Amino acid sequence: MTDIFDRAQELEQLQRDAALANRSQMPAGPSYSHCEDCGDDIPAARQLAAPGCHRCIACQQAHERGRA
Ligand SMILES: [Zn+2]
Repeated sequence: MTDIFDRAQELEQLQRDAALANRSQMPAGPSYSHCEDCGDDIPAARQLAAPGCHRCIACQQAHERGRA
């Protein structure tokens, strides 16, 4: 039953990405089709929600959490 929660968390992250992208109005390059960290596919929904994203959600969260 964890799939539903994973899904909800993913959607929430997508919406946060979109909000951040809108707010900062950074010039967004093309999204990567694969995560630059782990090489996993980046879902099309995420590419649309976060134009210019280079990482999958898991790697992006890890990247934002600690830059060490
Ligand atoms: Zn990744």
